[in-house]
Amino acid sequence: MKYLEKKCPICGYSIAKSFFDSGEKTLSTIVWAESKQEAITLEKYNQEYIQCLNCTHIWNHLFDWNEIPYDKKSNKMFNNGSNWKKHLNYLGEWLSEKLTDKPTIIEIGCGNGHFLQRLSSFYKGNFIGFDPSGDINESDSSITFYKSLFEPKKDIPKYKPNLIIMRHLLEHLSEPSSFLQSMSWAVHSQNIETYLFCEVPCIDKVFETARISDFYYEHPSQFSAKSFITLMKSCGEIIDIKKLYGGEVICGLIKLKPKQKQLDIDLLAEEISKKIASGLTEIPKKLSYLVSTGKRIAIWGGTGKCAAFMHHYNVSEKDFPIVVDSDSRKVGTFVPGVGQEILPAKYLIENPVEILIIPTQWRAKDILKEADSLNLNFELVLIEHNGKLLDFYNSNHPY
Ligand SMILES: [Zn+2]
Repeated sequence: MKYLEKKCPICGYSIAKSFFDSGEKTLSTIVWAESKQEAITLEKYNQEYIQCLNCTHIWNHLFDWNEIPYDKKSNKMFNNGSNWKKHLNYLGEWLSEKLTDKPTIIEIGCGNGHFLQRLSSFYKGNFIGFDPSGDINESDSSITFYKSLFEPKKDIPKYKPNLIIMRHLLEHLSEPSSFLQSMSWAVHSQNIETYLFCEVPCIDKVFETARISDFYYEHPSQFSAKSFITLMKSCGEIIDIKKLYGGEVICGLIKLKPKQKQLDIDLLAEEISKKIASGLTEIPKKLSYLVSTGKRIAIWGGTGKCAAFMHHYNVSEKDFPIVVDSDSRKVGTFVPGVGQEILPAKYLIENPVEILIIPTQWRAKDILKEADSLNLNFELVLIEHNGKLLDFYNSNHPY
């Protein structure tokens, strides 16, 4: 058994364990071979199923979605057995309890529209199906059908669905969490209330029986109850999770929404990014003004963060030729990307300046102590803070 450094597509944990290396096998379901010859000469694809050691999810890390001809072949799901019918009826009733009047319901991967048709017998609403390999009867006017992939960022704002259904679809995706999380942010951006119903095969029985027929190329993602719940929790508030059909299937209904802590991060990112944008306009203006006063200016620090300061605020060698540094190893080298020769701090004894800019705010006190020890005096010391250049001695800042 070996450990692999592979990022889990559900929880993001980075160490997985080889679970079942099945080698090269043909597709199993999206094929519909029309001759024996075609069936036995089908192309083969690598399958190595590995398990996340954090959330128990299993996936084929060698999977390539482009290898499956979803646009050419339909995924024929058997929905007519009597147990399946009971199961579908049961789900229809369960979902109907959660919905408001005349909802917009989207099914992604709707196949022949069977499930949407069943829901439309429970409900009056707007039913929309997406499936690049779908084969909905065009005469079925109860469903609007798009023979295409569903794109959360584009289609959620467009249709503002009350409910999105994904039955037996997530296991076909190599990045199911990216898809669902993108839905939850699209819903947030529209300020709408949208439920998501997902249903996938559950492989908990594999852990009891070591059976391997669950593993085939079209199902790169194999959900345990634990990994399914982890996924549902990552993109919304759980309303209900049920195992059905003798534990072979697990389904969940959630209200799509980012977590509060993620919303807080989003707000803060917005606020900071506005300050950064404002600084990118204001600070170069202030720097130009300082140059226009004709006063002598030095920048203390010539590499790393100090060089980045000069890059971001378009500081030029022509306007700001004097750069000094506390670190004697850097003296005699040149500011990367800008070009001033880095001078020793004592250069300022013979060549005093009126204004000092310190890009590394957190070192400002130490730098000023060092300047003091060299008997250097400045009219103005400036640091960058919240999109402004602040007077270090006479402004509010945390340094
Ligand atoms: Zn995981």
